[in-house]
Amino acid sequence: MKDTSKHQGLRNQLANVLKAKGITDENVLNAIKKIPRHLFIDSSFETHAYQDKAFPIAAEQTISQPYTVAFQSQTLEVKPTDKILEIGTGSGYQTAVLLELKADVYSIERQRELFKKTSLFLPKLGYKPKKFIFGDGYKGLIEQAPFDKIIVTAGAPFVPKPLLSQLKVGGKLLIPVGDKTQIMTLFIRKSAKEFEKHELGDFAFVPMLEEKN
Ligand code: SAH
Repeated sequence: MKDTSKHQGLRNQLANVLKAKGITDENVLNAIKKIPRHLFIDSSFETHAYQDKAFPIAAEQTISQPYTVAFQSQTLEVKPTDKILEIGTGSGYQTAVLLELKADVYSIERQRELFKKTSLFLPKLGYKPKKFIFGDGYKGLIEQAPFDKIIVTAGAPFVPKPLLSQLKVGGKLLIPVGDKTQIMTLFIRKSAKEFEKHELGDFAFVPMLEEKN
């Protein structure tokens, strides 16, 4: 696992690209500058790692586009010690960004292969979530609820009720909703029964899975 000054230069450029696309949160940009994204994808595609593009990982899944990761992280307004549930661990890149923002992260993955791979890999880089869970994100994580923030990194055909009910009052759920393309949707819990809904534009994610592998 090598990280060189050339990689650092490419990361700085990537952060500038994201800034030009509207990412203003300095903590998020610093996380992008710090995390060695090339180590999260297959080494034969190393040269693609710092382009603002999604990329295939194992189990027919993708590492999200850096802009999408930055946008979701910025929108959640992550604060140190925020208790965050992440649905779709995947490569662990978004997880690493949340950990750089000093959140307490619980991350759920539906594909066993990715769960195994990433739960070994991330701690080697020094990124330690509170918990990696192999399970079904549609159910949330009742035993650790309520959460300050919940982030979904796969396209959801509908908004799973358990995710809304596992938010603290004042908490935020950020979820891309839709089939072929998704509308990034932010729910803010205003009270036990009231949620404010904001639609934040179109994105493209791999679909949230209903079956375990
Ligand atoms: N943030 C990740 C995104 C990976 S793509 C990254 O940047 O690497 C979406 C991920 O969500 C995939 O790893 C997929 O296996 C996972 N996923 C899909 N459906 C899920 C579900 N129901 N529960 C938990 N994870 C799910």
